[in-house]
Amino acid sequence: KLGNATAKAELGRATWRFLHTMTLRFPDKPTPDERETLRSFFYLFSQLYPCGECAAHFQKMLEKYPPQTSSRKTASLWLCSLHNIVNARLEKPEFDCLTLDSTYDCGCGNETSSALP
Ligand code: FAD
Repeated sequence: KLGNATAKAELGRATWRFLHTMTLRFPDKPTPDERETLRSFFYLFSQLYPCGECAAHFQKMLEKYPPQTSSRKTASLWLCSLHNIVNARLEKPEFDCLTLDSTYDCGCGNETSSALP
């Protein structure tokens, strides 16, 4: 199966942007419920991501590197390092995770996060 490389890359870019922006909006001091929401999100995401090959790889990575949910910082650095593992596999350059904050601005103003109180 050949697939469509352009569409797969486009989906990947949009998804990574969403995922990184989401972890960067996660609370500095999440409640146990918020932590569980983020943790289960990533497992459910890994079962539903439309590129099957990508989803299978991501599930393997979750087994080895379970989601880190103790704070915005740990969650965003965890996701950045997973994305870097994917980058390495695809022979893409490593991203400097210290530049996350300046790279991802959701334009959402000052509210803490999506629908979290
Ligand atoms: P992308 O990797 O899409 O990154 C987009 C932008 O994010 C970059 O330009 C850069 O500004 C920034 N960025 C790069 N690295 C990081 C990082 N570590 N942290 C934060 N920001 C970063 N494709 C496959 O062919 N095979 C796969 O198995 C596969 N698995 C995937 C699994 C997941 C969960 C996802 C979301 C995507 C997967 N993809 C896979 C798609 C692939 O990762 C890329 O999205 C796609 O190849 C387009 O690459 P790109 O060079 O445009 O940059």
